[in-house]
Amino acid sequence: MTIAENVQAVLCKLKKIENQAGRAEGSVTVVGVTKYVDESAARQLVDAGINNLAENRVDLFLDKYQSLKDLDITWHLIGSLQRRKVKDVINYVDYFHALDSVKLAREISKRAHHPVNCFLQVNVSEEESKHGFLVNEVEKAILEINDLPNVRIVGLMTMAPFSATKEELDLIFSKTQALQQAISSLNLENVPCTELSMGMSRDYQEAVENGATFIRIGSEFFKGLN
Ligand SMILES: *Cc1c(COP(=O)(O)O)cnc(C)c1O
Repeated sequence: MTIAENVQAVLCKLKKIENQAGRAEGSVTVVGVTKYVDESAARQLVDAGINNLAENRVDLFLDKYQSLKDLDITWHLIGSLQRRKVKDVINYVDYFHALDSVKLAREISKRAHHPVNCFLQVNVSEEESKHGFLVNEVEKAILEINDLPNVRIVGLMTMAPFSATKEELDLIFSKTQALQQAISSLNLENVPCTELSMGMSRDYQEAVENGATFIRIGSEFFKGLN
């Protein structure tokens, strides 16, 4: 297999899922997660048509950002971000997927030179090991973040447990979508909250069936390479 073949397989499957779910083709943005691979593999991913790339660590993000500067890439930071590192990275980020505290939002708003698109991370499955707001904490946080000029909540992000069954995935993703719609209907100025970042290599089908608009795919693009 090549990276280009893996990309074609995912895009083809995604199109099928979009059709079966009654979603418009192209309504899901595919974000390629390059944390496992080097610059050359990331370039192949872009050549194969994936121009949204994501890293989960600040140092790796900055390395890739520098070395791929010649390409037209929309950059996503998907991992948890320590407050002291915000100033090093935030102005290179197009979408930040792991906003998990109001304190972090305040630091982002202070350090950013313009509004940053952020996904509020919600721990819908209530796994202890996971970051993110609990569902019952979200509304209060949203109201506080709405007052920050340089944080724009574009949507919610969630991760399902590794071992979740199909039924559990459907429940987690549909709960996240219901919460996203409830927040969006508040019509807050800095909280459009129209997007849903959910679904990885193993569970993007269920995520798209439940309204995902950004899926974050890593291993599926880099498996079985010769
Ligand atoms: C690594 C990672 C992904 C991609 O996971 P795969 O299973 O390799 O597709 C998605 N989201 C986050 C937050 C990650 O850390």
